[in-house]
Order: sequence, then structure tokens, then C-alpha cells
Amino acid sequence: MGENNGVFERMLENSQRKLEVRPDLVPYPEAEWIAEVMRKEGHERIYLFYHPEVKLKTAIAIHNRAIAEQALGGIRMLQYRDEKEAITDVLRLSKAMTYKAAIAGIKKGGAKCVVWGNPREDKTNFLLWELAEEIEALRGEYIGGEDMNIDEQDVRLMRMKTSFVAGLPETYRYGKLRGSGDPSPVTARGIVYGMKACLRFLNMGPLEGKTVAIQGLGKVGYRLAEFLYQEGVKQIIGSDIDPRRIAHFQEELKEKALGEFKKLSKVVAQEEIFSQECDIFAPCAAGGILTKQTVSNLRCRIVAGAANNQLQDSVAGKLLMKKGILYAPDYVINAGGLINVDDERHPDGYSEVRVQEKLESIFPNLMKVFWYSKRLNLPTNIVADMLAEEKIYLAQILR
Ligand code: NAD
Repeated sequence: MGENNGVFERMLENSQRKLEVRPDLVPYPEAEWIAEVMRKEGHERIYLFYHPEVKLKTAIAIHNRAIAEQALGGIRMLQYRDEKEAITDVLRLSKAMTYKAAIAGIKKGGAKCVVWGNPREDKTNFLLWELAEEIEALRGEYIGGEDMNIDEQDVRLMRMKTSFVAGLPETYRYGKLRGSGDPSPVTARGIVYGMKACLRFLNMGPLEGKTVAIQGLGKVGYRLAEFLYQEGVKQIIGSDIDPRRIAHFQEELKEKALGEFKKLSKVVAQEEIFSQECDIFAPCAAGGILTKQTVSNLRCRIVAGAANNQLQDSVAGKLLMKKGILYAPDYVINAGGLINVDDERHPDGYSEVRVQEKLESIFPNLMKVFWYSKRLNLPTNIVADMLAEEKIYLAQILR
């Protein structure tokens, strides 16, 4: 479906700024494919907003609120190829949020927002305020937060128009409300707990002395490297497509390690990261990187990283299991960011202590997945889905 024959175009023709689509409510024939996906994947509704004067084209998908009335999920701004790509993304990501919250024990439903536009050119204060007003009008059904190309400062701007956003800068104060700041360090700490769970399950001892290959040395990947260095790993192998990130990784960490780090780390080209001999491979860049091909190249015992939607498809999950590689399902191990942002909305205000306690639960949550995987002889990603679905099902029944 191209840009000119889709739902947004129809909204423009009809001067309609807001459109709701549900599995049982299809306002235009162009929206039928959306309702079809929603019926299959169990979504509640999706809202589309089109405000041409500020170039706001956005979709908020509410996947499931069996666990709580309010659904939480980040706001992502990307220059999608077409509206089908944007809406498919928001539907997929909102479902993953339901599962992530369910496993992490976060009392929130799953949702997501995508803004279809060029973040460098189209992200204006006016766009963010219009979006904030639309979120406000949903009266708490959806709570937005930071995600790709939407940062804490953007959330702070939106907060001027709505209280239904989270992930404010650390310095933000308003009554008991205290900004939870950049979630990346918390996510990275959660990955470390997850790695320890993997090692424990395989009886491989501590992180100390291990070799870890990190794909993506961005906000999470870099912090992860720092934490791993503190844990005494033997070597960190890094890769990034952005030379600035590589320079940052090499220079900063080298300084922190007082010269030792140069011996401990190395950087490899983008494609080479998969075939590095290591104990743990940590994908911390884009999604869909575990394919039939890349899995066959892996020379590690464990895959444990932050990237969302790491498996290209279920075949990759089966292949990992066949190769004897323990895969820590992405949404179980990378829940730290969600835990952090959710805590900002606690009635007593954000607490590092509470976040830390919840973060530590990533370890037992993964152990449970691994145990069932072994017991039932099923890939870990399938087991994680089953455990999440069980929680959602029970919440639905007991509501
Ligand atoms: P980021 O944009 O800061 O870092 C991603 C890095 O990956 C960038 O440096 C980019 O240049 C690099 N990259 C992209 N493609 C690559 C490739 N093919 N090979 C090597 N490097 C590549 O993002 P981030 O906040 O660090 O998040 C990393 C991943 O973790 C994303 O998938 C994100 O959705 C997920 N995640 C992040 C958080 C969080 O708290 N930030 C929470 C949960 C999940």
C-alpha cells in the first residue's frame, strides 16, 4: 500500500484528525487489513491521528489491558517507507509490550506509538504538543515514553500538555514526581543479571574471565561494556556501524580501565561480530538480526542482549536450540527500561531501590524460562510467550 491510497490519505480527504480502528470497527475499507492483523494478534484498538499543519501522522496501538486499565509503551519516530510499514510496526511492538510487562510483573497493559516522519526535519515542539494533546484526550488509556528518536527532553516538552507520559529527565521535579532519566543504564544492568542467569543455568561459573561480543555500542551497548568490565570479563569484542560510537567505546573505556582495556577489547567489522568465538553474544543494535544465516555463523554458548525482536522468525529460535546455544528471550532480559520508566508513575515517586529490586527479578524470570524450556524441550522464545500468555489469560479470567 503506498502513501497515497491508505488510511491517512482518506483521513486527509475527509478532514478527519482522529480515527479509531478495532477488530469489530472498520471505518474505511482501507483499514480492513489493520483489523485483520488485530483480530489475529489480539489487539484492542488502534488510534490514528493526522494533523497535516504540524506534519503529525501517528498511530497509537493498544494491544491488551487485561492486567491493567492503563497501557504503557514508548513513542518511536521513524521515516517509514509507507503507512503499512508504520502500522505493522506499531501493532508488533505494542504486542511485545504486553508480553514484556506481563513477564516483568509490571501492572500495565501493552501499547506503543509510532510517529511517521523524519525526526531531524519534522520533530518540532508543535508536533510534540499536538501529539501530547491527543494522548491527553485518551485520558490515561495510553501512557507514552521515550523510544527511538524521542528522548527525555521531548517527553518533558510533552509533559506540558499531558500527564500521561513517563521517562522525564532525571532533574525533573513536580511535587512527588521525579524524572526517572535515561533508561539505558538500567536496561544494561538488567542484561548483566540476565547474563548471570544464563551462566548459572549452564553451570559456566561467573562473568569474570568470560569473552563477550557486543553488537551495537550505543546507549545500552556501551553501558553494558562498562558493567562487564567491572565484572572482570576477559575480553569484550565490539562492533558498530557508527565510527563515533566505536571511537567512544575505545577511548572512554580505555581511560576508565587505566590502560588495561586496550588489551581487553577489540573491534570487528559489522558482519564479523556473528562469527567471533566467545562465551556470550549480546545483540544491542537493531531487531531481526538472528536469522538462519547468522545463527549458523555463531560461535558462542549464550545469546543475551538488549535489542528488541532479535529473532527474525521462529525458525531462528529453533536453530539456536538445535545448536545448543542458550537464548535469553529479548523481552524478558531487556525489561529494565520498562521497569525504570514505570516506576516514575509510582504514587510515592521514583525510587532507585524499588527499581533495583524489580530489576533483580530478571534473573529468576529467565531461570524459569530456561527450566521449562529444558523440561518441555521447547525453544526459550516459545516458552517465554507461553508464560506471558498464561499471565494475560489469568488476568482476563479473574478480572
Ligand atoms: P542506540 O541507538 O543508542 O544504539 C544502537 C547502536 O547500534 C548504535 O550505535 C548504532 O550505530 C548501532 N547499530 C545499528 N545497526 C548496527 C549493526 N548492524 N551492527 C552494529 N551496530 C549497529 O540504541 P539503544 O538505546 O542502545 O538500544 C539498543 C537496542 O536495545 C535497540 O534495539 C532498542 O530497541 C533496545 N532496547 C533499548 C532499551 C533502552 O533502555 N535504551 C530498552 C529496551 C530495549
